[in-house]
Amino acid sequence: MNSVTITPSDVLEYNFCPRFIYYMYCLGISQHEGERYKVVKGREVHDYKSTVNKGYLRKKLEVIDKKINVYIKSEKLRLRGEVDEILFLKDETAVILDYKYAEYKEKLFTTYKTQIVQYALLVQEKYDVFVNKGYICFTRSDNYLHEVDILLQDKQKALDVIDEIFDIIVNETYPKATTSKAKCLDCCYRNICVK
Ligand code: SF4
Repeated sequence: MNSVTITPSDVLEYNFCPRFIYYMYCLGISQHEGERYKVVKGREVHDYKSTVNKGYLRKKLEVIDKKINVYIKSEKLRLRGEVDEILFLKDETAVILDYKYAEYKEKLFTTYKTQIVQYALLVQEKYDVFVNKGYICFTRSDNYLHEVDILLQDKQKALDVIDEIFDIIVNETYPKATTSKAKCLDCCYRNICVK
């Protein structure tokens, strides 16, 4: 099991319903294609990356270097993922820039923050820098940038969730069902799930 890593998407699946992890990893039953929650990252997003926010963040944050589309795999964290953009700052910290092909709805979806925190963990480990901030760029809201603070407790919570997921994978623990029955209505596992 040492080499098994999960992705931020797996964490979102887990948050949607812990049983997704059991069905995917313990029983090997893949999901059907479908969209159960709005974490759509369209191909179109990539077209924006080279054109938006060039000056804004650079001025605001004293950016000294940046890397784009960085794939990071950490066996220590048991996590892997591709970070849209990493900005390295003069104060020797780094920030995450995550693009969403979505509109800003005056409310930050928990899922977006969850992903950003995991990217922060990956970047911290790979580059040995402190990450305490991220930005979500909503490409369908004129590239509005939403600032996200990444606190120590956010990182600890993310690590705890990874532990919980690996408890299911390694020990084949059958998790409790989501408490939101509405989620079951269009769930791809509803026909095999013992509710
Ligand atoms: S049917 Fe409901 S409890 Fe079962 S996996 Fe789907 S969302 Fe979870």
